[in-house]
Amino acid sequence: MTSKSKNNPIMKKLLSILVLLFITVQVYAQAQLPRVIILATGGTIAGAGASADRAGYTAGKIPIDDLIGTIPSVKKIANISGEQIASVGSQDMTIDVWKKLAIRINEIYAKNEADAIVVTHGTDTQEETAYFLDLVVPSDKPVVLTGSMRPATAISADGPKNLYDAITVAINPETKGRGVLVSFNEGIFDAREVMKMSTTKTNAFDSPNTGAIGQAYDGRVEYYSNSVREVNPPKPLQLTADTKLPRVDIVYMYADAPADQIDFLISKKVDGIVIAGVGNGNFNKAYMDAVKRAVAAGIIVCRASRAPSGRVVLHDEINDEELGTIVSDDLTPQKARILLMLALTRTKDKKQLQEVFFTY
Ligand code: ASP
Repeated sequence: MTSKSKNNPIMKKLLSILVLLFITVQVYAQAQLPRVIILATGGTIAGAGASADRAGYTAGKIPIDDLIGTIPSVKKIANISGEQIASVGSQDMTIDVWKKLAIRINEIYAKNEADAIVVTHGTDTQEETAYFLDLVVPSDKPVVLTGSMRPATAISADGPKNLYDAITVAINPETKGRGVLVSFNEGIFDAREVMKMSTTKTNAFDSPNTGAIGQAYDGRVEYYSNSVREVNPPKPLQLTADTKLPRVDIVYMYADAPADQIDFLISKKVDGIVIAGVGNGNFNKAYMDAVKRAVAAGIIVCRASRAPSGRVVLHDEINDEELGTIVSDDLTPQKARILLMLALTRTKDKKQLQEVFFTY
């Protein structure tokens, strides 16, 4: 443009109209993007270490807005905002934080504040939080958890990619109605099935019984199977801030294990015990006698297995009807504990509790 035409008042006006039009189109396009709220809880994804080449670091140090800042291109696909729910390594995750998270998620969807939610979380107990949320969030809108194995300060930190992928999963139209998911290292996993499989590797998650249900790669999301129990039955519990969950503990079985821990839990008057049994939820004679004492004391005892895959079958080597126990089906002990805690707020009837384990 020549300096003459620049000074032409008509040209000037035309130029400012064009700029205004461009800005309006941009603002409109941005407003059309899906609204995603990231709820941050800490973990290695928000971890910082003293140097890039050492493993030592502290989880949960970096605030959510800084994490979002590591993936600037995400603004092209979604309207993102972040909220800090907690800042803990997930080994310190608590039922109170679970409740806070679930209540906020339910509020966001009840008030239509977002189209999708991503939760950043430490990997150690991510599978537990995912399953808990799956059981208490009634909305069919997406809730996707992610995290990282390497802190933000490490060489080849995996957090930014995992977070970006989780957002692409959360905004994908195919994600709605699949319950809570975990998106990690390009895999998409069902909350009920997923399990941390490696202490340090970046492909830390898998679902031993079913495998991943999909893949997130290069901004694309593909599902290759459905969640096992995707029918979304009515949730076992409507959670409020006042909800108090009963105490359920896990006891691990191993060769020649003494039953002292079970007796201790009986003395503590816990509401439920999950036994991480061997094989098909089996345990030795000492445990058998202690389990009888626990059942006689009115404690619900659920047989699960320390084996990472397969189901614990009713009345196999152990006659559950005679012993007064229930089985976890194919839930891991840590997930069986969560389901039992929630189910016990509704009923203590063993038949109904067993049905809950075959349903959720
Ligand atoms: N201990 C960390 C946590 O669970 C590990 C991780 O996030 O990878 O918060």
